[in-house]
Amino acid sequence: MLDKKLAAEIEKKLAEQEKEFSRQVDRLTKEDPFMRQERSSERIPEFVEESREVQEKEIVDEERSLLEEQLKDTQAALARIKEGKYGICENCGEEIEPARLKANPQARYCLDCKEKLSAQESA
Ligand SMILES: [Zn+2]
Repeated sequence: MLDKKLAAEIEKKLAEQEKEFSRQVDRLTKEDPFMRQERSSERIPEFVEESREVQEKEIVDEERSLLEEQLKDTQAALARIKEGKYGICENCGEEIEPARLKANPQARYCLDCKEKLSAQESA
């Protein structure tokens, strides 16, 4: 089992990351050029303007979905702490190495499974 001190440290870190990720997702939502366009009554009809906005939106969307993913992982990790299931590999049910959790508190798998799973993904 994780020792209490490390568990508390990880929970604090996850709570901070959760706040930070939500703040960034919010910021990107506000920056979304399409959202901006909806809010303003003016439309800029020029093609150049539109394609620039499409590019901008793609970048923002990509960044946002990455952040949303991280936010989801962080919230899932916090939920596992509450359920008392934190630090257990979701694949093999073994304990995840504490050093790994410290470096990556969102980790859902032990190192062995992570390696196996990512090998499958890239295959
Ligand atoms: Zn495992």
